[in-house]
Amino acid sequence: MDSLKQMIRDIPDFPKKGIVFKDITTLLSDKRGFAKAIDTLANRYIDQKIDLVVGIESRGFVIGSALAYRLGAGVILVRKPGKLPYKTHKTVYELEYGTDQLEIHQDAIAPGQQVLIADDLIATGGTIKAAVDLVEKLQGNIVECAFLVELAFLKGREKLDGYPVFSLLQF
Ligand code: AMP
Repeated sequence: MDSLKQMIRDIPDFPKKGIVFKDITTLLSDKRGFAKAIDTLANRYIDQKIDLVVGIESRGFVIGSALAYRLGAGVILVRKPGKLPYKTHKTVYELEYGTDQLEIHQDAIAPGQQVLIADDLIATGGTIKAAVDLVEKLQGNIVECAFLVELAFLKGREKLDGYPVFSLLQF
């Protein structure tokens, strides 16, 4: 996994001063790196009969859709407000300064479906907690929350009160 870690580029002070942004585009554009990352994640869930992979806007769409394809699952989108065309459920979550919102189509998941939630990175855990709340509202069965990268020092997984979390690469 060290080779994958080295494909991630640090961008200091982006999007604001003091944040070190983990730029995964350099991993995604490496054909061996991308395949290794997706295959390693997919192998973890191959026997879990995943029905749906939820991708969180927007880098989560890349990870989520590739994973869904590998798992023979459908993919659904959790998006920023006003982007989804049909009726939605909405959840509000805390940011460092202020709040943000995420939405899901009301009919995206049938009760009891096996759902894997995917995003590129877990930092404070606020975004994934919001996605978990949306899937719970639709009574999906959350198998795990899967990430390419975890900023472990931010302890984001503690926000998830016991929902299983897996990350491929930790910083
Ligand atoms: P959080 O809600 O704090 O867990 O933040 C997670 C979301 O913000 C993910 O969708 C990431 O894409 C993005 N994010 C937060 N911090 C970083 C970072 N240092 N580098 C790259 N992406 C980040």
